[in-house]
Amino acid sequence: MNGSINNDAFFKLSYGLFVLSAKQDDKDNGCIINTVMQVTDVPKKIVFTVNKQNLTHDMIAKTKVATISILDTSAPFSVFQDFGFKSGRDTDKFADINYASRAKNNVLYLNKYANSVICVKVTDMRDLGTHTEFLAEITEALVLSENPSMTYQYYFDNVKPKPKKSKGFVCKICGYVYEGDTLPSDYICPLCKHPASDFEPIN
Ligand code: FE
Repeated sequence: MNGSINNDAFFKLSYGLFVLSAKQDDKDNGCIINTVMQVTDVPKKIVFTVNKQNLTHDMIAKTKVATISILDTSAPFSVFQDFGFKSGRDTDKFADINYASRAKNNVLYLNKYANSVICVKVTDMRDLGTHTEFLAEITEALVLSENPSMTYQYYFDNVKPKPKKSKGFVCKICGYVYEGDTLPSDYICPLCKHPASDFEPIN
């Protein structure tokens, strides 16, 4: 028998926030992800999942090469806007970014706002429906600073702007405000693609 599912319970997981980047031909691209985990030490491997709607997902599935910048608590909201709220299909996300460098694998990483960078070669992929799970071996790993890693909790408490509107619903993931008296149950956040269940009313 299943019990009820309170989505807030998942925010208690110690999620980190990461910029996942890729390069295919002449195009650089990146997106925000929240699941990266080291799963073995010898050989050194990690797993991460990416929403299939992200162009970065398609690029990594094709090239099998990726770089993960581990965001730290110095990251301002603009980093989330640059990598989380824009479509890589329409724009060059790195065009106005002056805080990126190329790793040995030729993929860009953030040389600021990230405390480390992990470069990988994908060895296995698993279809999880909305997401693909990538299993990958480490090809390079650098520590950039001693700043603490950005967590969801820190992002909510200190980085995400507080809503100013007096009515409506706010996305708990990205801070997008839906202005309306009722939120449709099948509503999808236009910015981060999370469902209506991740919105809360503004009081
Ligand atoms: Fe959102």
